[in-house]
Amino acid sequence: MKLFHGKGVYGAIAIGCVSVFKRQEASVRRTHITDAATELERVENAKSKALEQLSAIHEKALKEVGETHAQIFEIHMMMIEDDDYNDSIRSIIETQMVNAEYAVAVTSDNFAAMFSSMDDDYMQARSADVKDISNRIISCLSDGENSDSESDSRMIICSDDLAPSETVSFDKENVLAFVTAFGSSSSHTAILARNMNIPAVICVGEEFLNDISDGCMMIVDGHKGEVIIDPDEETVAAYTAKQQEDAHRKDLLQQLRGKDNITRDGTRINIFANISGVDGIGAILANDAGGIGLFRSEFLYLESDDYPTEEQQFTAYRKVLESMAGKKVIIRTLDIGADKQIDYFGLEHEDNPAMGFRAVRICLERPEVFRTQLRALYRASVFGELGIMFPMITSVNEVAECPAMCDMVKRELSEEGMPFSDKVEVGIMIETPAAAIISDRLAPMVDFFSVGTNDLTQYTLACDRQNSKIERFVDTHHEAVLRLIEMAAVNAHANNVWIGICGELAADTSLTERFLRMRIDELSVSAPFVLPIREKVRSIDLS
Ligand code: PEP
Ligand code: MG
Repeated sequence: MKLFHGKGVYGAIAIGCVSVFKRQEASVRRTHITDAATELERVENAKSKALEQLSAIHEKALKEVGETHAQIFEIHMMMIEDDDYNDSIRSIIETQMVNAEYAVAVTSDNFAAMFSSMDDDYMQARSADVKDISNRIISCLSDGENSDSESDSRMIICSDDLAPSETVSFDKENVLAFVTAFGSSSSHTAILARNMNIPAVICVGEEFLNDISDGCMMIVDGHKGEVIIDPDEETVAAYTAKQQEDAHRKDLLQQLRGKDNITRDGTRINIFANISGVDGIGAILANDAGGIGLFRSEFLYLESDDYPTEEQQFTAYRKVLESMAGKKVIIRTLDIGADKQIDYFGLEHEDNPAMGFRAVRICLERPEVFRTQLRALYRASVFGELGIMFPMITSVNEVAECPAMCDMVKRELSEEGMPFSDKVEVGIMIETPAAAIISDRLAPMVDFFSVGTNDLTQYTLACDRQNSKIERFVDTHHEAVLRLIEMAAVNAHANNVWIGICGELAADTSLTERFLRMRIDELSVSAPFVLPIREKVRSIDLS
């Protein structure tokens, strides 16, 4: 049994046999030619054939993944006709007097390298697309059929990487899962797998390819991004049980999708979901969440080797806002320190980091970092319904400083003629006992509260959330924590401020009724808990 970690791009479990995807790599040799016109004509014929194939793939994708995601194949068709791409092929043939295959391969390498070197994640992912269309043209030049392949029994498809056209060309009914050694979660391959509802794990690393062969047993856990090769019986049994839970959740989805979060007596609550990156949006939409109650933005920093630029952050926030199409998105500003350390911040060692230099404290001490993030957030705000919230608040002064910083950023953007929305809500996390206790003073300063029960429990019960030795002393239903939440709820409503809960406790269905009685307005949970909470809410009668 061997375990590999990667990135799950579609949260579901598959158990089955491996089929190693064999790409018919067109091996390209450089040959000298004497008649450039004939080579150019071969390129034109190959392009026409490639366009015909892509048009058929586009039709298939339209049926299987819908118009939005099928668009990538229209883009591929446009890329084949791109002037720069074609000029490059033509000029290599004419100036070097070489064969068409070689000219296409060199053009492909050059364009792919150019895309890979770009700052923008979206443009980087286009590198795979240019390779995909070039391989198709090369294959058509050698008169071979493209590598589009079909397996005739249900298999887990494993590969170094998969091009979008390869992904979509499989017969969906025969694919249990996709696993790739490389790939990016923003690539169209990942997006297509997600939209084909096929469990997929990418980026498991090159080593994994040495451990697999056709027919070997594998478990793919798209929730956790894990792949287990040759699992033992016990593991298969455990994952079979998880598959059944997934199936139950799917049934729930069928019954509850689109239904209101409303109690029997008519009390409504918002049920949102939490994400840690742009990747999480698929799960949010699949589980029918009403919005995003917590986007842990620090993951953009954790996944980067250096401070993410304003542009990189803007792109990520914009993508999340656009994907949510007008539903509320609450993005929490940077919350690092404590258990989330980042080398390039150069933070000094602390004996007690959970109570140390973290979250909003870092932002207030490093205004340049804070300002970059706020600029990106406000610039993205025109693409949806944004709320910004600040973590680890303990005092009135801290709260006062945050909106002041927002105002400064808005002034700057106005002066630069950059648009931003004037409807951005600004809120704070209630995750320290101090914030809950002075919530009557904090409420008039903000638009909303969001209770971080993970930290609120840690600080109220003096139980380090990282320390597994004290697990038995952590009473997650401790009356002290619940009373602090209630105190914040009373003070929020007294000031016409809405209040949500975004810590893990929000997903605890044994507390849902109590939260509703406290008049909590929103519960934000991991995406798989949205529907179980909706089911619970709909069973409650508060009258
Ligand atoms: C919390 O503390 O409850 C919370 C939601 O924030 P995090 O878990 O990211 O600290
Ligand atoms: Mg917290």
